[in-house]
Amino acid sequence: MILKSVRSVHNNDFVGTYECEWCGGEREVMCYDDLNFHTNVVPRLECHDCAQSTLSATKCLLVAARRSAIPRHPSIKAKKEAQ
Ligand SMILES: [Zn+2]
Repeated sequence: MILKSVRSVHNNDFVGTYECEWCGGEREVMCYDDLNFHTNVVPRLECHDCAQSTLSATKCLLVAARRSAIPRHPSIKAKKEAQ
């Protein structure tokens, strides 16, 4: 989810409207403006329309990598052939 607008601010608390990078759906969230919220909480916010989060893309890439989308380093292959 990407922060689109801020509605109200009180000290470090704010109400933000977040937009889903997958479907464009919007969600209003009570937020706390600190590093933990922006780096750990926001990437895990799920869209109410499509249930995806920012980390969904990362998970998809990791799954693809584990399914051999990324070729092994040549030195690993050479060691296996030498055995
Ligand atoms: Zn969405």
